[in-house]
Amino acid sequence: MYELFADLHVHIGRSQNNKPIKITAAKSLQFANIAKECVNKKGIQVVGIIDCASPYVQEDIENFLANGEAYEILDGGIIYQNEVCIFLGSEIETSELNENGKIGSAHNLCFFPRLADIKEFSREMSKYIKNITLSSQRANISAYTLIDIVEKYNGILIPAHCFTPHKSFYGNCTSRLERIFKEKFEHIYAIELGLSADTNLADKISELEGKTFLTNSDAHSLPKIAREYNKIQMADVSFKEFLKALKREDGRKVLCNYGLDPKLGKYHRTYCEVCEKNILGKAPVTKCDTCESKNITVGVYDRIEIIKDKKQTISPNDRPPYIYQIPLTFIPGLGEKTINKLLNVFKNEMNILHKATFDDIESVVGEKIAKNIINAREGKVKITEGGGGVYGKISSN
Ligand SMILES: [Zn+2]
Ligand SMILES: [Zn+2]
Repeated sequence: MYELFADLHVHIGRSQNNKPIKITAAKSLQFANIAKECVNKKGIQVVGIIDCASPYVQEDIENFLANGEAYEILDGGIIYQNEVCIFLGSEIETSELNENGKIGSAHNLCFFPRLADIKEFSREMSKYIKNITLSSQRANISAYTLIDIVEKYNGILIPAHCFTPHKSFYGNCTSRLERIFKEKFEHIYAIELGLSADTNLADKISELEGKTFLTNSDAHSLPKIAREYNKIQMADVSFKEFLKALKREDGRKVLCNYGLDPKLGKYHRTYCEVCEKNILGKAPVTKCDTCESKNITVGVYDRIEIIKDKKQTISPNDRPPYIYQIPLTFIPGLGEKTINKLLNVFKNEMNILHKATFDDIESVVGEKIAKNIINAREGKVKITEGGGGVYGKISSN
């Protein structure tokens, strides 16, 4: 068995010929660049690129394969330099009738084994989506229907950043996934926790006990790749093996989730849109403690308090550990220049965050920054919680 690091949610900003794909993402996020970044800087061996339903991206993939830089494997996935396996995915926004009779939107990660599969999927989805060339577009169907289309082309569906307030199932569609997927709920093998949640919070909902948790970066720029990732045990690198790991078959499984302390996420706490501040009272917060307004953006922390059906967190026995990591960009005193200095010595961010010793780091960037990195690793930092679309912050003591 191999132990592999996987980040399954990376966007594309522009296609190679400069067509916009995800408008809010960096231009340098292109198919080939992502593969290179994973190999050269991130230590990621499995990457899910989530804008591959765009015909412009498909053209890039075809060129990437045609010039011999990468090849597709029979069991699904594209191998680049024998170092990284790329899964082709598409993030689709579905429309769901929520419990108040209103229409909510949820994001779904759909992954396919082969380029031919996602091309067919894309063709069919263009019936429901106005502009199939762009990322994360809204389809006028429910995920209950979407999952059939995904499976028709050999794919799987994973609810994305499951608890965030604007575009997720628990955030604005439902308090139970089973109400959305009904008898197809058993076809949901995994959910993505999102940056503002962790295992401890998600295991307050009993319908998730049989589901694998994934921690992915949702990167909108190259440096943000692997700010969250998974360690997965597989016998080989392929889509087929990945699927087994999600189902926890034959010893394949997620061994560990690495992610932000959810307090650092953009939507951890509830935010008052009138006072423009986080409401930090006892969860669940339902209105502003200052102006009493109900014009609030409900944070993941409060939302889970509202919908949970367990008093305390009880994780199933086979739930892997969730290890907090604070990405270098969150650590005080670390600009791009210093980060590059560290990367030159330690090869990738994972080594710096989890392995390098204080002395090794100090010899490259000095005592103060070395201390900050080790304190972040050991959880000895103060965190100001995030909310309302603003990340949390850490202070150096
Ligand atoms: Zn999304
Ligand atoms: Zn207020």
